[in-house]
Amino acid sequence: MSLAIVGSVAFDTIRTPWGDRERIVGGSGTYCSLAASFFTRPRIVGVVGRDFPKKTLALLRSRGVDLAGLKVKAGKTFHWEGKYEEDPNRRTTLRTELNVFADFRPRIPEAYKGSRLVYLANLNPEHHDFVLGQFRRPAVVAMDTIRLWIDTKRDVLLRELGRVDIFFANDEEARLVTGELNLISAGRRLVGLGPSLVVLKKGEHGALVFGRDFVFGVLAHPCEHVVDPTGAGDSFAGGFLGYLDRAGGQGERDVRRAAVYGSVMASFAIEDFGIGRFLTLDRSLVEARFRQFRKLTTF
Ligand code: AMP
Repeated sequence: MSLAIVGSVAFDTIRTPWGDRERIVGGSGTYCSLAASFFTRPRIVGVVGRDFPKKTLALLRSRGVDLAGLKVKAGKTFHWEGKYEEDPNRRTTLRTELNVFADFRPRIPEAYKGSRLVYLANLNPEHHDFVLGQFRRPAVVAMDTIRLWIDTKRDVLLRELGRVDIFFANDEEARLVTGELNLISAGRRLVGLGPSLVVLKKGEHGALVFGRDFVFGVLAHPCEHVVDPTGAGDSFAGGFLGYLDRAGGQGERDVRRAAVYGSVMASFAIEDFGIGRFLTLDRSLVEARFRQFRKLTTF
């Protein structure tokens, strides 16, 4: 089992109509590796400052996350602040303090170099080359992106899409990258740009997975009280890739099940602020929700 996750490990300040949280633990790499830890032993690559809580590092370790690639540097941890409207799909970034993340040029530990799956979470696409060049021959390279890179590094992003196997995007990102309003057209266009799988996340409406010759739809778990949507996308990717790592293959059946596990992990992430919900979760609850998904869509 070998999934390497390259992403941010952060403090987040979250503002929602239901309450705020200051400087709680977040980050794309954190959410993704915690979600993946219910399926495999993920390897995280990232950087934090000396202010990052040792307690959280111990927690990640206790969940089986390999921290050999997480550097602790003098300075402050990356800090992001976001605000949600009544509609949890609407988010505004209020602040991004890169701090030690600013010159993040990750050195991949020797023990990670043979990883079978590599996930580049929200990474500046200009740094993909440097990161991927250090891995031997990953069978699957996956990436997602954020609006910032679509707006500022569009050409590099399009080039990088040509060399990855899986692209995760939300509906807004898919529309921005392709210029297509219709999501089905956007998904097909994205597959045409290179990835053999494109996963379009649609918030409370679930996700669509586009393969070269199939489309698969998965619902989101019906949730009446979204507490904090932060990290839903990264948790989806963690569940998806963690399951693929455990399954060992990437056939259509594996991909369909991976998408359901992705949706399951995203549904847990939004039930509490930050990574809170993952702390009380266990494998049996994950499997129980997987079965609920099956019930929800069987007819
Ligand atoms: P998501 O809600 O899945 O899109 O991801 C939210 C996470 O992304 C938060 O925990 C943030 O810490 C992290 N994040 C926000 N902006 C950036 C950025 N520019 N680079 C890396 N990670 C970021």
